Amino acid sequence: MSEKNVSYAVLKNILRNQDSHWVGDGFPVRTLFFYEVQGQDLSPFLLLDYAGPREFPPTDKRLGVGPHPHRGFETVTIVYSGEVEHRDSSGGGGKIGPGDVQWMTAASGLVHEEFHGREYARTGGMFEMVQLWVNLPAEHKMVPPRYQGITMKDIPEVVLDDGAGTLRVIAGQYRDIEGPAKTYSPVNVFDMKLNADKLVELDVPDGFTRLLVVLNGQVLINGEDEVDNARVGLFERHGDRIKIQATTDTSALLLTGQPLGEPVVGYGPFVMNSTLEIHEAMDDFRNGKMGQLS
Ligand code: MN
Repeated sequence: MSEKNVSYAVLKNILRNQDSHWVGDGFPVRTLFFYEVQGQDLSPFLLLDYAGPREFPPTDKRLGVGPHPHRGFETVTIVYSGEVEHRDSSGGGGKIGPGDVQWMTAASGLVHEEFHGREYARTGGMFEMVQLWVNLPAEHKMVPPRYQGITMKDIPEVVLDDGAGTLRVIAGQYRDIEGPAKTYSPVNVFDMKLNADKLVELDVPDGFTRLLVVLNGQVLINGEDEVDNARVGLFERHGDRIKIQATTDTSALLLTGQPLGEPVVGYGPFVMNSTLEIHEAMDDFRNGKMGQLS
């Protein structure tokens, strides 16, 4: 593409939610976006919970959330500090630490538990993670569950031009670098560390949903809009580049994805396309069809 034809994506809205709540007794989260609030603007993304950063004292207790079901979507857990242990009824499980990612496809349904890792819990320390929910296309909502444990060494890290920072490709593609996560619809998840006073221009697919999630720090978007700590820039779907200037050292996620254009009907841990399918999910869970943890 020639430079003169570049069109910048315009910021549509800045999403902010500083209210914190606990998920179980291990995850003090702020829900930075949620389909019940922003609806189709987020598609194919559904929700993002930002847990911490928070210092936990040493403990022998298991902090976290016990067995609960999911159906119809994927949970993506990115750990920045601390450890998360997971186990599910389809046989998936593992422990992830700083830099690691767990990409869990609940799809037709499973029961899982999420706890702080035992070793981390014993020593205590800073805890910081993100859990993103990615919707599944209707045709894939009832495929079998899948667990992708992705460690830091599996995730390619791109050094951005002019010392602007680094970008880890968790899913999708940045230039010719492909991320390890398998997805059911076109989705890019980039984990970025941006250096203060540097400018980066990133190509983003035209027509996709584009969200810039600022975890820590502050950026100026397209030279005019400030987005800082625990706030999310939601862009218009047209335009093929965004300009990000970090005003302080910043950690941020850039999420882009093809909108699914399908009805979203959710209830708690289930996200389907109709109320009937939600009732089926509740029945199937009650009848043990999502399995159980042994
Ligand atoms: Mn869960």
